[in-house]
Amino acid sequence: MAFSGALTITDLDDFLTPSQACIIPVRNGKAQSDMTDGSTEIHIDSDNNYYEVSTYSTAVAGPSNPKAALEKKALERAEINLNDCLACSGCITSTESLLITLQSHLEVLTYINSISSPSIDEATPPETRRPFLSISPQTLASLSAYHSALTSRPPLPLGLLLRRIRHFLSAKERGSWTVGDTTFARHLSLRESVQEFEERRAYAKGKWVDRTGGQGGYTPGPFPVLASACPGWVCYAEKAQGDLLPLMSSVRSSQGVAGALVKQYWGEKAGLKPNEIYHVTAMPCYDKKLEASRSDFYSEAHTTRDVDCVLTTGELDLLLQDLGFNPYAPTPLDHFSPSSSASATAPWPDLLTPAGTSSGSYLHTLLAHISASHPRPSALHTRKLRDSADNEEYILYDPDTNEVLFKGAKVYGFRNLQNLVRRVGKETGLGRGKGAGKLGAAVAARRKKARAGAESSASTPGTGATTPASGTGADGVEVGAELERLKRWEEKKMDYVEVMACPSGCVNGGGQMKPVTPAAAAGMEVDEEGYPRPMPDPGTDTAKPKLGKEGGEDGEEGWRWSTKEWVQRVEELYWVGEGGLLTPPGSPGLTGGVEKAREGEAEVKADELAERICRDVEDTLGPQGRWEFLRTRFRKVEGDVLGGEGGVTLEAVTW
Ligand code: SF4
Repeated sequence: MAFSGALTITDLDDFLTPSQACIIPVRNGKAQSDMTDGSTEIHIDSDNNYYEVSTYSTAVAGPSNPKAALEKKALERAEINLNDCLACSGCITSTESLLITLQSHLEVLTYINSISSPSIDEATPPETRRPFLSISPQTLASLSAYHSALTSRPPLPLGLLLRRIRHFLSAKERGSWTVGDTTFARHLSLRESVQEFEERRAYAKGKWVDRTGGQGGYTPGPFPVLASACPGWVCYAEKAQGDLLPLMSSVRSSQGVAGALVKQYWGEKAGLKPNEIYHVTAMPCYDKKLEASRSDFYSEAHTTRDVDCVLTTGELDLLLQDLGFNPYAPTPLDHFSPSSSASATAPWPDLLTPAGTSSGSYLHTLLAHISASHPRPSALHTRKLRDSADNEEYILYDPDTNEVLFKGAKVYGFRNLQNLVRRVGKETGLGRGKGAGKLGAAVAARRKKARAGAESSASTPGTGATTPASGTGADGVEVGAELERLKRWEEKKMDYVEVMACPSGCVNGGGQMKPVTPAAAAGMEVDEEGYPRPMPDPGTDTAKPKLGKEGGEDGEEGWRWSTKEWVQRVEELYWVGEGGLLTPPGSPGLTGGVEKAREGEAEVKADELAERICRDVEDTLGPQGRWEFLRTRFRKVEGDVLGGEGGVTLEAVTW
């Protein structure tokens, strides 16, 4: 689908529509025809058999055949794996269970069975890899919300839930797993993001020094930096917005860093080669499976991936339920404090949760860094765009000089993401947005109106009070100065954007637990959507709901969590640490300072460990090795499947 440059996209679904069918299974079977004067199509019958159907013109078919010739040939099926995926959503979102046989909880169950009951078949070598599970904090929050709603019990703090899973899986009969969470990996990723940001600044000023001696062929990209921790966004950018790839952050996501940490660092300390470790991650979305299968995360030398298997939150829950896990059963690890549990059984500090967003706090980490590096106190102005919490702008400025120190944005969901692409293209001249310089009259009028609204309701720094359109502001600030400030905010180009494909970010990932339904709570068999199977007869089913949203309502309504409420619940639980509420995201519309990075005992330990790890890696592998440990590359995929600009590509398929 091609969009006019004059349009602002506001009515798209936040999900790409599943495409007709995956075409990759036939890619190796296409014969080259001598007859070029005609057309060839791939047909799929109701039994999922693939055919190549060629039509030739009469000139090619010969004079004896007055009509166009038709040739139908059955095509051989090819094996596909996640690397082949075009992210057309044809399989991942609709029939992935048929096409993806690896990377499921069944694979992990098979692994556990082979560990606990080694095969006596000599042809099957015994499983000897050491298991390691890395769980994302969004997964823990989703599991906590789900089991709390399911059992009507209080939600489990994430640290407690993590330690119970750790204790359960550490049992010998389940494989003696080492279990950690991905927040320390994210801590490394965030630190590296700050370093990358400074590299780009230095490069822009001609002051960058390549410490790798150009070995990796890396040069810092231009601004704005676009976060790349979300594989949904990365997939879309590589296949549909290739011109924007130089803007993408080269820093590995938390899963990417966790992969390097476990296979390269922890493995070495444990005396294990990368291929002697079985590394499983639990993530909020299916797209993380695609990320783990990227070639950068594969070691040719050891023929192994940094992450061997990615489970979604739902799949981890299935695995744990199959193994008999009860999240409410106390364990001996319950009373360890986070720091002592880290030293006792965890590979690194548990649950480091920086202030900001539940999708990684990439933007807020940079805000804190820029604010801390500025010699004078700074102020932060945030505002929602199009009244959406998924589309917020952050402006850090010096209130004395009006200098804008940093302009960033949080852009979640495909609808906002499409508009971001246009905006960035317009600012940078890169990508599809570069032709969008001329705004349509309606859009220009809307912008003017919005600007006028923003100016008349701009918050006065530090107070949140509004400033009148003329005269002197409530705190004595001259309106002229205020307008000058607004003008500077408007003119400043963006420095950083935290981009996430899911509306509300990772707490709302496609692999998270679905809201609890009455059937699930009653222990009935439910389908993938959470509906009971077989469906209850409304005339005879008199069971009264026992659970509901907080503050429980009577009747059927009391059972239903709207998606919004459910995501909000998971978001709240994400911010419940060991002993209470952590710092949730700041409230848009208010102004004030930037929260300093947490400097508790766990953070200090994490910083020390992060520094030691980076030093060790650099000592062992050199500066280029350190780069590979924490960074990655993105590649443009040429062409179009969907036809027109910006579609998912077809030329990626080798015919
Ligand atoms: Fe996955 Fe969604 Fe998070 Fe992106 S925003 S990493 S697709 S859960």
